[in-house]
Amino acid sequence: MAEKYDISTELVHFDPPASGADPHRAAAPPLYISATFKQPSTTEPGAYDYTRTGNPTRSQLERHMGKLFGAGRCFAVNSGMAALDTICRLLLPGDEVVTGNDLYGGTNRLLSHLAQLGVVVHHVDTTDLSAARAKFSAKTRMLLLESPTNPLLQVADIASLSAAAKAVAPNCLVVVDNTVMSPLYQRPLALNADIHYESGTKYINGHHDVMSGFIGVDDPALADRLFFYINATGAGLAPFDAWLVLRGVKTMALRVARQTENAGIVARWLSERGYQVNYPGLSTHPGYVTHNRQASGAGAVLSFRTGSTQLSERIVDNLRLFGISVSFGACESLATVLRICHAAIPAEVRRERGLPEDLIRLCIGIEHPDDLLKDLQQAIDAAEHKFHAD
Ligand SMILES: *Cc1c(COP(=O)(O)O)cnc(C)c1O
Repeated sequence: MAEKYDISTELVHFDPPASGADPHRAAAPPLYISATFKQPSTTEPGAYDYTRTGNPTRSQLERHMGKLFGAGRCFAVNSGMAALDTICRLLLPGDEVVTGNDLYGGTNRLLSHLAQLGVVVHHVDTTDLSAARAKFSAKTRMLLLESPTNPLLQVADIASLSAAAKAVAPNCLVVVDNTVMSPLYQRPLALNADIHYESGTKYINGHHDVMSGFIGVDDPALADRLFFYINATGAGLAPFDAWLVLRGVKTMALRVARQTENAGIVARWLSERGYQVNYPGLSTHPGYVTHNRQASGAGAVLSFRTGSTQLSERIVDNLRLFGISVSFGACESLATVLRICHAAIPAEVRRERGLPEDLIRLCIGIEHPDDLLKDLQQAIDAAEHKFHAD
């Protein structure tokens, strides 16, 4: 790792601007809202000319996030999906992609679209190395992984899958969507991935008030190709949004630690009550050993089943403190059922891929854990009472 200090320290200290020292020595990073920058003369370029290509506030954030990702270069774009769209521009018709069964809904939607354009997409159980290996061929151009997955929290062995893919297809790009973990707990580039991307809308910004996405790479040639698309399409993050993320990310280490501690408490509480809980922090999780080898924390997303879709919906409807919403990684706790959080995946595909409709996903915030447990208890009591009364 490149940093001199612990990452929690790095997160609150910003490097000076690349274009020279700030004359006013601002304690918070300055916001350059300008779309265009004047040149010293017709023959001399400045450090920046046009914000689609580059902006000092965006650059500040990119340098900052590069440290967090442990990446040689990092790009800030408009959303997690804009990050994946940029990466998928590296694919050509006929190229093959191997990816998981349990994927973020938007990822599934984008891959289905690429399949119509001639990219061949294979969905496999990424917890099973031999199942994935059976799909690798000389045409495999991308291995796209999530670990843990959302919403089933399945764990893929990133380094082993990467090695297996590259043994068959040396040019295969190993791409990891790290959103469910955050770069604090898992750094895909250190696990032999070529591209680490994630949604900054979740843990990185952490306040449900800005969308963003990040792409981290080490290979300079790959970085140049990705930058080409970002500049060509205008995917780069707007300066004000970059500034908001610079503000949000300062408290990330505190937030994520508290959220993870709370999530562990909630996961144990639910499993003690007999629910089947998916959370990589529980020693009963089938991916527990692999997860702990490649990640340093379990995160704040968990899911559990009740055995009845109707009961699950009633529990979620009765929650008072938890909001009913998609997304995760922010200060406030949220709950959803599969039908909401994976609406981008058609119901019949959800069935085929083994996504259970009675699944409740909880995304834990920084509240006091006793309040979260109290809310869950009253929602379960109310839902079960109503359920049995019907
Ligand atoms: C939210 C999310 C995305 C997409 O990010 P946006 O910022 O919403 O575009 C991608 N992958 C996962 C796992 C996510 O949770």
